[in-house]
Amino acid sequence: MAASSTLLRLISIFFILIPQVVLSVAPEKCSSESGDCINKSKALPLKIIAIAAILVTSMVGVCLPLVTRSVPALSPDRNVFVIVKCFAAGIILATGFMHVLPDSFDMLTSGCLPEKPWHVFPFTGFVAMLSAIGTLMVDSMATSVYSRKNGTGGVVLPESTEVAQSAVEGDRDGGARGGGGASGGHFHGHHHGAQLLRYRVVAMVLELGIIVHSVVIGLSMGASNNTCTIKPLVAALCFHQMFEGMGLGGCILQAEYKLLKKAVMAFFFSVTTPFGVVLGIALSNTYKENSPTALITVGILNASSAGLLIYMALVDLLSSDFMGPKLQGTIKLQIKSYAAVLLGAGGMSLLAVWA
Ligand SMILES: [Zn+2]
Repeated sequence: MAASSTLLRLISIFFILIPQVVLSVAPEKCSSESGDCINKSKALPLKIIAIAAILVTSMVGVCLPLVTRSVPALSPDRNVFVIVKCFAAGIILATGFMHVLPDSFDMLTSGCLPEKPWHVFPFTGFVAMLSAIGTLMVDSMATSVYSRKNGTGGVVLPESTEVAQSAVEGDRDGGARGGGGASGGHFHGHHHGAQLLRYRVVAMVLELGIIVHSVVIGLSMGASNNTCTIKPLVAALCFHQMFEGMGLGGCILQAEYKLLKKAVMAFFFSVTTPFGVVLGIALSNTYKENSPTALITVGILNASSAGLLIYMALVDLLSSDFMGPKLQGTIKLQIKSYAAVLLGAGGMSLLAVWA
């Protein structure tokens, strides 16, 4: 009798406990944070320090590659310029592959989203793929519209466009080889045209592609009140934005903007993460990182910017540089440039551990 009552008791405990365990596992993952570290009033000053620190480090990062151009000692020839660009391209590539794409996978396959359709179809890959195709479409169509507009007549034959293109590139190469002093005016004079416009569009689109990730990491920090995780996160985000800034700076560098435009683009990039933090603080009562709406919106945005970043880094930055006349001319410079790509991509990959 005693044994059966013990068994009954055990079974009843079992049946009372199991639903509680299940219930506490599922929602707790999706509910807001809890623990000893949660302290809203202590977290706020940390966030304000973070805003200032991230703003400064972002500006330093984005301005570093731009400085290489104006300091004559740093660029005795144009090789340094190419290496800086390759380093930047490596950072952009790693941002896409190592930061934005995995983030999107995490969000869109989160346990806080319903099983159907989010766990039966890899939405991240799908959206990233569509975004890469879309970027290619915009890229090719904009280029053909531009060359048509700037052609000699109403209709431009493909051959004549090709000739014009190679003439521009030949000049560029000649300018680059024609002595170390061939900077500024000479280079500038021949550099206009389709290629420069392309670099400018690439720089702007890249800035947009990076912004999503920058705002999101700021947002999640601003919405968090966990003082234990905020402290190391501030340092990580400072490095993160500095590195990413160097990537973007390298692309702004090759776009050869005027000083004001450069400053606007650098400023715009620098304020994104601090803006995210401010937004996170403002919305900290309503914004829930793990709510289905937030997960789906940010996940889809991340997936589309991943496709864009990966396409642009591979096609518009790396391939166009490595297949271009400058790098095709010398294996030695190619090897140095690959080292720069690996250094940039490696550094940015390492930062993926934290943010
Ligand atoms: Zn990141």
